[in-house]
Amino acid sequence: MSRQDHTVPARRGKAIHVAAGQDFRVINTHGTQVLDTWAFATGDSSTFLSMAHTRSYISRIHIRTCDTLVDNHYQPMLTVLEDTSPGVHDILMCCCSLPIYKRMGCTEYHDNCEDNLHAALAEVGLSSPHTPAP
Ligand SMILES: [Zn+2]
Repeated sequence: MSRQDHTVPARRGKAIHVAAGQDFRVINTHGTQVLDTWAFATGDSSTFLSMAHTRSYISRIHIRTCDTLVDNHYQPMLTVLEDTSPGVHDILMCCCSLPIYKRMGCTEYHDNCEDNLHAALAEVGLSSPHTPAP
């Protein structure tokens, strides 16, 4: 399978289809910004990558190379093949959202990962009634 690059503009989201068994890389080309990442089953947004289930599955609160990440039915969904980041991946916190920015004092609209997720899903004809933890 040939490699295909997708660029996610700053403060935006991007949804791509990943087939079973297919690899993908998430590369941060600038600075140290968070790259919230979600996964949904093709054609069934009620099945999604679940950090709560993954924490139980791996019996840890941080993911590392070779970990299997599971969906909300406790089924394997992704495997971490490589990690070149220097930090610890947060799988505890929710993504940023308008309520969070309002709580921090923003009085005008602020781009946020929750809206970016739903906009990205809409761009590929999908939707989710909720926002799983990234
Ligand atoms: Zn965010």
